[in-house]
Amino acid sequence: MKRFDLRRVAEFIRTAETEELLDRVTVYREGMEPVALDLMEGELDRRGVSRSEIARHAETRWKSAIRLSDGTALRCSFCNRPAAVRARGWHRLFGVVPLFPRVFAYCTTHGPKASAEDANTHTDPPT
Ligand SMILES: [Zn+2]
Repeated sequence: MKRFDLRRVAEFIRTAETEELLDRVTVYREGMEPVALDLMEGELDRRGVSRSEIARHAETRWKSAIRLSDGTALRCSFCNRPAAVRARGWHRLFGVVPLFPRVFAYCTTHGPKASAEDANTHTDPPT
């Protein structure tokens, strides 16, 4: 069994963005330790996020998220949000030299449909 550092987890949860906690108790729920889930739900409660807001977040996320076989959502290649799109791009050395083509996952913030400027810093247009 994987060692589980409760103190580090608790510290992360205290400083995490509400959006990130919401993602973890919803679309990433299956991959979370039950103890961590308890802590995160407790923290959301403390921040005044209601159960129905959590349910609404899950519903919105699953509308665009890509569900993996383990029941969790595919993560964006550039942040911790769930990805909404998969596209081919080049893995780049130092972000410049193309090394090998791979499939990237994009959340709605990093996706090709988001701000073109932002997307261009990470990707080539799909070929
Ligand atoms: Zn992202």
